[in-house]
Amino acid sequence: MAALKVLVSVDMEGIASIVHPAETTPAGGDYARGRALMTEAANAVVAGVLEAESAAEVLVADSHGPYRNLLPEDLDRRARLIRGKPRELGMLAGLQAGAQVVMFVGYHARAGAAGAVLAHTMADAILDVRINGRSHGEIGINTLLAGSYGAPVVLASGDEAACAEFTALVPGGLTVPVKRGLGQHAADTLHPREACDRLRQAAGQAIRRHDEHRPVAASGPLEVEVDLYQPRTADLAALIPGIARTGRAVRFTAENMTAAYGLLQLLALLTSMGP
Ligand SMILES: [Zn+2]
Repeated sequence: MAALKVLVSVDMEGIASIVHPAETTPAGGDYARGRALMTEAANAVVAGVLEAESAAEVLVADSHGPYRNLLPEDLDRRARLIRGKPRELGMLAGLQAGAQVVMFVGYHARAGAAGAVLAHTMADAILDVRINGRSHGEIGINTLLAGSYGAPVVLASGDEAACAEFTALVPGGLTVPVKRGLGQHAADTLHPREACDRLRQAAGQAIRRHDEHRPVAASGPLEVEVDLYQPRTADLAALIPGIARTGRAVRFTAENMTAAYGLLQLLALLTSMGP
């Protein structure tokens, strides 16, 4: 039997103890510590996966900001690393390579979620994303993207709000909450090493039970609506054939999640585009 291929998508805002952009942006004073903590969390998950299934192939996708945060030389050498942007399938690059199960580490709740640390959806200037009328953050969008490739998300970790977002979509889904949000920039957090121990244990558990999980898929065609903070971003988006503007929102129809995800990635990039 071919080796199980596992994609571990690692974001940064939902890593234990992280609460502020100073810890998550390259120009931030505490960024070096943030990326080290992110790398330790990724290593804990890789270790847990390989304890449960020593022959597994583990792909780690650096999935925060510039997608160049994890320290390659400090990452568990048994894993392969996907880094840099832009790239097809963004946070879930690796699905194309045949990943059969997906794990979300360091994930955060969607834009506007209450009591959630560093909550946003793809970009700070995106106020909401709705797919077939249902509001989704990155957890929802990526769960549907994985599902469209037949891959279930078998583990999700972040703050309590992020974990709740995941279990709302995947009832009974395995989660590792590592902090309780007290606001956008405040949390009651586990010690980072305690969080890593729990991630390692849960990753092993998720792999041992991966057969029990079913992918979550949205049936196409998909109606996608995006509320934008800046009217200028809506002007830019409306230049793309197939995207219609209504006020500060834009909407489009996508034949599948891959197509929807491509345009969502582009919209997120447009929000930071200068004059
Ligand atoms: Zn991020």
